[in-house]
Amino acid sequence: MINVTKTFLPPQEEYNAILKRAWDTGWITNRGALVLELEEKLKTYLKVPNILAITNGTLPLQIAIKALELKGEIITTPFSYVATTSSIVWEGCTPVFVDIHPEYLTIDETKIEAAITPRTSAILATHVFGNPCAVKEIEAMAQKYNLKVIYDAAHCFGVTYKGKSIFEYGDVSTCSFHATKLFHTGEGGAIFTKSQTLIDKLFYHHNFGHFGPEVFQGVGINAKMSELQAAMGLAVLPYMQKILEARKGVVELYKNNLKSLGVLKLREETHWNYSYYPVLFNNETQLFTIQKLLNKGGVIPRRYFYPSLNLLPYTDKKSCPTSENIASRVLCLPLYHDLSKAEVLKICTIINEGL
Ligand SMILES: *Cc1c(COP(=O)(O)O)cnc(C)c1O
Repeated sequence: MINVTKTFLPPQEEYNAILKRAWDTGWITNRGALVLELEEKLKTYLKVPNILAITNGTLPLQIAIKALELKGEIITTPFSYVATTSSIVWEGCTPVFVDIHPEYLTIDETKIEAAITPRTSAILATHVFGNPCAVKEIEAMAQKYNLKVIYDAAHCFGVTYKGKSIFEYGDVSTCSFHATKLFHTGEGGAIFTKSQTLIDKLFYHHNFGHFGPEVFQGVGINAKMSELQAAMGLAVLPYMQKILEARKGVVELYKNNLKSLGVLKLREETHWNYSYYPVLFNNETQLFTIQKLLNKGGVIPRRYFYPSLNLLPYTDKKSCPTSENIASRVLCLPLYHDLSKAEVLKICTIINEGL
């Protein structure tokens, strides 16, 4: 079986050696040495000024909405994972969907202004498949209307845009370290912001509001990463270069062997991370045909992203034709570190013959 992704597991003895440090101190959570070390190493690796390790990639979105004190409407993208929308709703705000650009697949910045109302407090957009949003235009819009900007950068580990980490854009940026993501801690994630004031606020929010053992700095939740998760991150991080090279090889094989299918158009000046390989079929019927053939051959691609989030049962279902159209005919093909050349070629053959 060839799944859409496969978790990179470091040699178990290396993970155990790092875990042993937690056993030696008897300290397995509450920002122990391993979480602190992971944060420092990620700061260096990603070249970011601040990072806060979180126990998954969804709570960072919710905590960001809390910390920025967002109310009312949040302009967002319908083409993302459900967590982008559900976090807005969970925090008591209303998602207002703006359709996406048909090639970049990120929120269409030219349509944002028309969606702004007196109730709009922020823009929450996703850098889809590691492809940056039009950050400059979004920032200009945010300044003009006094809005906050959050980027769901769950797919963006290691991506740089215009020479700096993608995590540096927006008031707050988030990442997921879930086992299916490029870099992982089993479950995990992170929050990034350039603002020292904001990182302090996010810090209190992620740990019950604790300011010392007996004083509380506002309301908080428990979103701390544990030492067991951090140990996985520390064991995986040294392999990132190898993982990226292997994935690059797979992407190039797909590119050279699947010429007829539209692929993601990366924004210029993006240093990409080979996180996903989406292909676009002519229509949903063709997608179903190919999906069936792939499944028969033991290959399990995924419909990232489907459904278009404006069609979720708890949203207003305002139409977003481009997003709905793309969602109906996009498939992400298997892409991971040890997918072999023979396997990639087999997938290409099934698709090419099916078309
Ligand atoms: C994976 C993902 C998330 C959620 O991250 P978790 O770590 O699974 O909580 C949020 N947004 C996007 C776009 C994602 O792909």
